[in-house]
Amino acid sequence: MRPYLLCVFLLLVRSGWTAEPLRVVTGTTVVQDLVLQIGGDRVRSTCLLQPGGDPHGYQPVPEDVKRLAKAQLVVINGLGFEGWFEGLAKEAGYRGTVVVASATVEPLAMEESDHPAHPGHEHHTAQDPHAYNSLQGGMRYAEVIIDALAKADPAGAAEYRTRGKTYLGELRQLDAWAKKAIAAIPAGQRKIVTHHDALAYFARDYGFEIKAPGTALEDSQPSAKDIADLVTFIRAQGVKGVFLEFAKNDKIISQVADEAQVKIGAGLYLDGTGAPGTPAATYAGMFRVNVEAIVAALK
Ligand SMILES: [Zn+2]
Repeated sequence: MRPYLLCVFLLLVRSGWTAEPLRVVTGTTVVQDLVLQIGGDRVRSTCLLQPGGDPHGYQPVPEDVKRLAKAQLVVINGLGFEGWFEGLAKEAGYRGTVVVASATVEPLAMEESDHPAHPGHEHHTAQDPHAYNSLQGGMRYAEVIIDALAKADPAGAAEYRTRGKTYLGELRQLDAWAKKAIAAIPAGQRKIVTHHDALAYFARDYGFEIKAPGTALEDSQPSAKDIADLVTFIRAQGVKGVFLEFAKNDKIISQVADEAQVKIGAGLYLDGTGAPGTPAATYAGMFRVNVEAIVAALK
C-alpha cells in the first residue's frame, strides 16, 4: 500500500474507533504544552492559566469552575505551584484523577516569605515548583503525562507512547544543545540575577549560581537590605547576567541593575510559556529562548 493510502486508511480507522477527544484541563502553560505534544488530536486540553499568567498568585475565575466540571482528566505541575487548585476543584465538584506532572522529580527546597497580607514576614521552607526549568525535570513530567494519558484513554495508549518517545528524543537533543551552548560561558561567569527564585533546578543541572530579590510570591517586596546585598553581589562578582522576567514586575530588577550599573539581558520565561506564535510558545521553545538569552549575556 502506498504511504498516503495507508495514512488515509489509518485516519478512517481512527475516526471510526475513537469517540470524542479526551477532555483534559491543565494547571500551567508548561504542562498544557506537554499534554498537547504527547496527546495530539486525541486530547482537547484547556489550560486554566493564560500565557504570561502567574501560577503563584493566580485567582481562578468562574469560567474555570465550568471548565473543570467538564474535565475527564486534570494535569497540574504540583509542588505547590497551583496552591489555588484544591479550592477550585472543590468548587467545581471535580472528583476525577488529578495527575501531578512533577511526581517523579526529586524536589528542591526553596525559601518562601509569608504573603504580605499576613503579618510577620517570616520565612519558611517550601518545595520549589520550577522543576521544568531543567530539561531533566521536563522529561520526568513528559513520562508521567505519557502514562497518565495512556491510562485515561487506553485505546490511544500506543499513540501516546509513540508520540511521547519522539518528544522525549527532542527534549534530549535540546538538552545536549543547551549543554554545548552553555559550555561557551566560562564557569566563573555563570551567575544570574532574576526577579524571582525560579532557576534552582536549572542552576543545579547546568552549573549556575542564581540570586533573586523576589520569592515565589508575585507581590512580595524585598527589603532595602536585600537590594543592597544584591547590588554588592553583582559588583563584587562582576555579574553580567541580570535578567527581567516576562509577566513580572520589572521595577526591582531595573533598580538593582541601575544601582549596580550593569546592562539588563533579554527577558526570561520562567513561570510559563510565551504567547502563541512567539518562539517561546512551547515548553521546548521557552527553554531554548531562555538559554539563548543567558548565553548571549554571559559568554
Ligand atoms: Zn515562579
